[in-house]
Amino acid sequence: MITITLKAYNSVLTQALKDKPHESCGYLLGPDKETVTENYPMTNVDNSGEHFSFDPREQFAALNYARKNGLKIIGNWHSHPETPSRPSEEDIRLAYDKNILYFILSLKDSEPDFNAFKIANGKVEEKIHIEI
Ligand SMILES: [Zn+2]
Repeated sequence: MITITLKAYNSVLTQALKDKPHESCGYLLGPDKETVTENYPMTNVDNSGEHFSFDPREQFAALNYARKNGLKIIGNWHSHPETPSRPSEEDIRLAYDKNILYFILSLKDSEPDFNAFKIANGKVEEKIHIEI
């Protein structure tokens, strides 16, 4: 199980709603691997409702920010404006780092659905419940 603070969750949700109908994305940071305390917003340079990509310079800045503040990168997140909270085939293909989690916020239904996934060796190994 992963815990996210209400403040960090609200930051993710607000950003995702603002970027809709495009996918929104960012990093989730925290003091340990089970607790998300901060959303680090990233630009979706794809400007698309079906894909997202990070800007490498922003990625570098995010990693620096985490290190300077003694925080760990727990994972990255992106939104699915029109599809469920589960990794697409492309999400799985692009999940190159098995040491982080992949969070997906679905805005498909009236109630947002936020889940974390462990992806390794080209498949989803675990779906992790997020406690807000
Ligand atoms: Zn996706």
